[in-house]
Order: sequence, then structure tokens, then C-alpha cells
Amino acid sequence: MALSSSVLAGDFLTTEAGTANASKTITEAAVEGSNEVRIEEYLEKNIEQLKLKLSTIEATDARLAFLLDQKEKLADWSIQQRAQFYHLLAIEQEANAQLDNAYASYNDAIAILETEPVSDMLVTSYIERSYIIYLQTNSQATYCPDREHALTLARQLSSPDILVKALTQSAFCYADVDRFEEGLSRLDEALILARKHQFTANRQAMIYNSTGAIYRSNGLHKYAFEYFREAYNLWRSVNDYQDMFNMLHNMVGESIKVSDWETAEINVAALFTLAEQHPDFNDFLFFAYSNAGRTQFFQQNFDQAIEHLEAALLIKDTTKETYFIDLIYGYLSLSYMQQNDAEKAFEMASLFINSNSYQSSPIFLKSSVLALEKFAVQDYQQSFNLLLNSLGNERKTYASMMDKDVIYSSLEHSAKVSEYEVQILENQLSINLLKLKSETDKQQISKLSLLVTALIIAVLLVIMAFLVQSRRFFKRRSQTDYMTGIANRRYTMEKGGKIFAAAQKRNETLAVIIFDIDKFKAINDTYGHGIGDLAIKATASKARNWFKKRDLLGRIGGEEFLLILPNTNLDQAVDIAERLRLSIEQHQFQFNDIKLQFTISLGVSVKLDDTESLAQLIKCADTALYKAKNNGRNQVFSA
Ligand code: GH3
Ligand code: MG
Ligand code: MG
Repeated sequence: MALSSSVLAGDFLTTEAGTANASKTITEAAVEGSNEVRIEEYLEKNIEQLKLKLSTIEATDARLAFLLDQKEKLADWSIQQRAQFYHLLAIEQEANAQLDNAYASYNDAIAILETEPVSDMLVTSYIERSYIIYLQTNSQATYCPDREHALTLARQLSSPDILVKALTQSAFCYADVDRFEEGLSRLDEALILARKHQFTANRQAMIYNSTGAIYRSNGLHKYAFEYFREAYNLWRSVNDYQDMFNMLHNMVGESIKVSDWETAEINVAALFTLAEQHPDFNDFLFFAYSNAGRTQFFQQNFDQAIEHLEAALLIKDTTKETYFIDLIYGYLSLSYMQQNDAEKAFEMASLFINSNSYQSSPIFLKSSVLALEKFAVQDYQQSFNLLLNSLGNERKTYASMMDKDVIYSSLEHSAKVSEYEVQILENQLSINLLKLKSETDKQQISKLSLLVTALIIAVLLVIMAFLVQSRRFFKRRSQTDYMTGIANRRYTMEKGGKIFAAAQKRNETLAVIIFDIDKFKAINDTYGHGIGDLAIKATASKARNWFKKRDLLGRIGGEEFLLILPNTNLDQAVDIAERLRLSIEQHQFQFNDIKLQFTISLGVSVKLDDTESLAQLIKCADTALYKAKNNGRNQVFSA
């Protein structure tokens, strides 16, 4: 199972790519070399036969011995074929734990390929050599230069496949905090290529997975989760159960990091389902239990944690991933301690501390279990200090996680901005190209500059239309009452003021009607605010029937409305008010299951020679409304 490499090193792509590459480049070469038909065919057969023969040999050491025997036959092979041979040899040397020899074989491949123009095989050789250095040193300083070089070379070729590989591999070199933006942009580029050239789901999933890994190592767990999920979905589409399982395992880890227990448990359940459906994958069940235990542990359900973790230990022989077995000892020791079973806790603590995986375990687990051990030997001071350190560490981790969330949002923003800038550049570029063309082709000058001008005008028009639209939209929104869709109070007063001034100037009549729902509090109290709101909306839409285009209807209070009617005298206004009153009184409203009847009271006033402002006019109408209310409601009064 590739789990530990994917989880620990975040670099497991290289392993898979390593084996897949060798065979792929051989077939690719078969196509490329077809111009020298006869010799190539013969050699082709040789390397194909060699591969066939190799596949019949079971033991890895025997395979290596077989290849070494063939080495002297290489002399008259083409450079590409010899390089392929060195790759096969390196793979077997790696399988036989001879990393130095594998490194030397890739060196041989590189040395001969470098005498030729840059080829896919040369790029692949650098990538593979880098993987061997990674295994030898696990140090970015030593294995990254090869990947960087591979990317530079890949950019000189026209193979999207090889470029994607180089981008993906080199992205791992940019996983640390201050450089991961570069890593992500390489993976983005890889993803765009993979989509454009319709790479298989598997290849796309690998890119998603490595993106997730980069986010994870930077503590951006929410985003890591999303990428692992994308990868999971892609792998599900091709029924790749092993990788689906790995992604679920990662998703559980990321959900735990952000304390999303519901999601963690859903994914744990999915692990169990996969384990049940695919018993041929030996260690699925072990990992399902181990994840279930971990999820319970972090929720502090220690009895359930113990149950699952012990269940995992019972089948620990089904996995070779000792790292995960050792972690279980650590979690169990803390869980037993919580359950007051000191003896078991100390026993597990010592298993964990003395395990090979102790050093590379999560810091919090290391220091808490160490504290527990100190406690067992009654070194309380040391134990206490370790626990305090552990707490401090956790706090720092979470603080930096939150910090990074902020960083990420701004990154996302700047990514969008740069996307936009690229678009502008592209437009600029196409315009420049047109210009250039127009200069070289004199006959077309006028036509092209016309085109350029037309293009620019078209772009400007689109931008202007967009600006006008959005300005209109925002303006309308700031003027509208969100509930009824009619004018809001601010806009009613503002626009009303203008209507008043215009009427004043032209010496025209102007009437206002102010109206308010009667006993509205009782409606709210009896049927609730929801129905109250519906009554307000219905009143507004009834009132809409009575106003003409030049009129203005606004909601100026909770259930209080104002109608401003230009060119309307008192008789006409009272008539409108009366008809509005009647239309509401006589209407049987139906809101959901509730049948409702209510009434309104109205106050009317008209502009007189000495009326100075809209406010004064409204005040008169308000006084009339007050009288209508006092006189028993459901009636029209005028000032
Ligand atoms: P009156 O006949 O004297 O007008 O009696 P009333 O009960 O209608 O009294 P008043 O006009 O003072 O009460 C208005 C009530 O409307 C008070 C407030 O709780 C309620 N209200 C204000 N805005 C809203 C709203 O947007 N939705 C709902 N459902 N109720 C509102
Ligand atoms: Mg009222
Ligand atoms: Mg009121």
C-alpha cells in the first residue's frame, strides 16, 4: 500500500510515475523512431523481447542479474534504446535497495542522452534521478535541482505529457510556506494542460492529490481537503479503489485538523464500506479502524477510541505500514491514561517511544506520550513542562492555521487579479499583432486600423454597457424597499422633494395620501410577524393599482405608506384614497392557510399657496390620518 509514502513524504507520485514512465517511454520511442525502420525495428524487438523476458522473471534479484548480463549487448543500440535500458536497470536496482547503483544508471542515461537534442527521455531521466536522490537524502536542497532542470528542459519540448510530469514533480519543491504560491501555480498549469489535452482521470487526480499535499504541508487544511476530495471523485470514476482509499484516509486527517467531526465520520464510514466491498485489499480494514480510532480520540471519546484502535491492533499484521501501527500505540497510551488505566497507558507509551516511528510522529503526540512516561517514573516536573510545551505548540499551530487562511484568501484574490491581467495582456497582444500585420501589409492598412478601432470601440462599448448596467442595478437597489419592492423611505423623501419643487415652480396642484394599516399590532400578535409581513406586501401591491406613472408610492414606516400625486386636486385625491380604502376593506386576503381581513386609515392633504415644503404637506396629511384613527379607523380624513 502506498499510504505511508503519500501521507508521510507527500511525494508518492514519484514512485508511481517511476514505474509507469519506463514502460511508457519505450512505446513512445517506438513511434518516434519509425523513420529508421529496419534498424529500429530490430532494436525495438530487442528491447521489447528484453522486457518480455524480464516480465517472466519473478525474483527481483534475478531480474537485476538478467539485466546486468545484457549490458554488453548495448554497444550497437541507439542512444534512446540504451537510455531505456538504463532506466529498466535503475528500476531493478532500486527494487534491490541499491540506490547508489540506481543513481549511477540514471547518470549513465543522462550522460548519453545529453549528446543529443533534448528529448522526453532526458527529462524523464532527471525526474527519476531526482527521485533516487530524494530516497537517499530526503533533502530538497539535493533532489530539487534535478527537477528544476527537468522543467526547464520540458519547456523546450512540445509534449504536454512530459511537461505536466515535470510541473507536478517540481511543485513539491515549493511546498514550504513562503514559496508555495509558486508550487500551486505549477500545479495549476499542469491541471490546465491535463484538461486541455484530456488526460486520463488518473493523471488529473494525481495533480489534485499533490495540490492537496502542498496545502496540507502548509496547514491549509480546508483547501487540502477539497483537493483530496476532487482526487477521490476522479479516482472513483475509474474504480481505482486503492487511491480512493488513500484519499479518504487523507480526508479524514484533514477533517480532524479543522474539527469537522461530521465529515470525518462520514469518511471513516466510507473507509469501512470500501474495506468491506474489497477484502482483497488486505490492509483496508486496519486503516478503517485506525482512522475510526483517531477520529474518536480527537473528539475525546476515549472509550470508543480504545475500542477501534485495539480492533486495528488485532489485525496489524495485515499491513506493512509500521508507522501507522506505532502511532496507534501513542494514541492508545493517551486514551488509557484518560480512562484511568495507568498500567496499560505506560505499557503503550513505552511501545510508542521505543518504536522506529517515534521521531517522525506528530509533535503533540510525541510530547504528550513522553510526558506520560515521565509521569510513570515520577518525574513530575519534567512531565508538567512537556505538557505545557505541547499545549503551547498546539496553540501556535492553530494560530498559524488561521493566519494562513487569511493569506490564502488574499492569494485567491491576487490569483484572480493576475488572471484578469493576463486577459488584458492577451487582448493587448492580439491588438498589437493586428497592428503589426497592418504595417507589413500596406494594402490592408486602412482595413486593419479600422478593425482595430472597431475592436477597441466594441470593447469600450461593452465595458460602458456593463458599467451603466451595474450602476443602475446598485442605484435601484439603494432606492428600493427590500420587502415590498416599492420606494424606500429615503428615496420617497428625496424624489418627493423634487416632485414638490417642480409642482411649486409650475404652480401645479399636488396631493399626498398617507395611510397606515389599522390594528396592525394585533395581526402580528395573532398570526405572527411572517403573516404581518405578507399583509404589508399585499397592501403595497393593492396601492400600486392606484398610482400612475408620474406618481410616487413609498413605504415610509413599518406599515405606513405615502402616495405623492402630482397634478391632483383635493377631490381627486380623496376619491383615490376612498377607493383604496374600499379595495382593502372588501378584500379577503389569503396568506398560506390564513384568511384575513383588515382595513387602513388614510389622511389626505393638498399643496396650498402657503405650503412651503413637502415635509409640511406630509405633516398635514399625518394630522388628518391621526383624526381618521381617532374617529374609529377605516376612513379617509383630509386636512
Ligand atoms: P393603529 O391602528 O393605531 O395603527 O394600530 P397598530 O397596531 O397598527 O399600531 P402601530 O401602527 O403603532 O403599530 C405598528 C406595528 O407594526 C408595530 C411594529 O411591531 C409592527 N411592525 C413594524 N414594522 C414591521 C414589519 O416590517 N413587519 C411586521 N410584521 N411588523 C412590523
Ligand atoms: Mg397601524
Ligand atoms: Mg403605524
